[in-house]
Amino acid sequence: SADRLSTLDPSGTVFAEFTGLAIEHNAVNLGQGFPTLPVPEFITNAAIEACKDINPLHQYTRSEGHVRLVKAVSAFYSDKIGRTLDPLTEIITTVGATEALYSAIQAFVNPGDQVILMQPFYDSYPAAITLAGGVPVMVSLTPSKPALSSADWRFDINEIRRAIVPGKTKMIMINNPHNPIGKVFERSELAQIAAVAEEFDLLVIADEVYETLVYDDSSTPLIKFGSLPGMAERTITVGSVGKMFGVTGWKIGWCLSTPEIIRSIWMVHQYVPFSVVTPLQEATAVALEKAMTNDYFERNVAEYQSLRNKLHGMLSSVGLTPTMPQGGYFILADTTSVPDDAAADPTERRRDFRVCRYLTKEAGVAPIPVSAFYAPEAQTGEVPAQLARFAFCKNADMLDRAGEKLASYG
Ligand code: PMP
Ligand code: GLN
Repeated sequence: SADRLSTLDPSGTVFAEFTGLAIEHNAVNLGQGFPTLPVPEFITNAAIEACKDINPLHQYTRSEGHVRLVKAVSAFYSDKIGRTLDPLTEIITTVGATEALYSAIQAFVNPGDQVILMQPFYDSYPAAITLAGGVPVMVSLTPSKPALSSADWRFDINEIRRAIVPGKTKMIMINNPHNPIGKVFERSELAQIAAVAEEFDLLVIADEVYETLVYDDSSTPLIKFGSLPGMAERTITVGSVGKMFGVTGWKIGWCLSTPEIIRSIWMVHQYVPFSVVTPLQEATAVALEKAMTNDYFERNVAEYQSLRNKLHGMLSSVGLTPTMPQGGYFILADTTSVPDDAAADPTERRRDFRVCRYLTKEAGVAPIPVSAFYAPEAQTGEVPAQLARFAFCKNADMLDRAGEKLASYG
């Protein structure tokens, strides 16, 4: 295979491993982030209706994005991002946020260019960068001890400044709300990043796929990076219908940016998928049009907040000390109480992988080891070694079953 594959982890993504392990051991899967909640009827009906069409919704649609969908996306975001987005030039739809990230990076990162990532990072970021020949440069999000809230994880703007090599550093990527931490960044934090982006002329990818899941006790609402003064012209905002409507299998996402930036991303996109699945773009448009008036987002975030609180209580009660997330659908838990000898495996250097495999096989509950979101050299560091990520985008029965299993094993 091509040399570039040598930059990727040969064992594949952590999500495939742990979903496979959960199935094999009949464990409750709180690993991979996919909802098990019933999808609201206005969303499933939108898909059914689109599929009933006999033509043309079963054919290729516009390569840059199905027209009804880009119009709905523009209507949804224009207020939030503080300017009217031209649906035909400032939005592109993609195969999930994953392709949005991949095509955006392919479009802007030259071989040897550096891209700043905050560690922990979502796992597809460094892969997309190295596949483009770029170099991921890590700066840290670090927890206070103990981190009771995701807000207790912080970055140091001076570390970001030191990581920038003028002329080489092309881009910085931020994820807000953050996977796996659940942090929602304060305006002052985003403003620090914006100032650096301006000073060093960086592009910013703002992965905001969990934007509709910010809880009412968060110290800050979600502030869209592209709405900050001067940032519209350098920000690529990424979104995903999988997170917005709890339908990760639909694999529809989008980028919002300037016409010039969107055109460059489209140059790549036209030769990756060419266009995105038409009936589900139509269905997404219809669902988004309805959701803007039927209070779906309010009800959805309230439901997730009660599931979050349930999982948080359950992890506390079994001694897996959780960090309360402000957004997203994951909780980080401290696994220090799991005895190291119980999870012994001389072939695995990463403690959190040992512990998470052990919890899956022996306790019957599958989390995700957090070092999967760290660069190889940082994977045995003190912070990820003690952490496991548990998903709460799961029905209450599933969370109860997981709680019982953890309690009876503990
Ligand atoms: N970014 C983040 C932070 C994510 O958590 C995910 C999904 N887990 C993605 C991007 C990818 O989204 P999609 O499924 O729409 O490709
Ligand atoms: N984004 C999901 C998560 O963080 C997983 C996506 C995937 O399996 N690639 O759990």
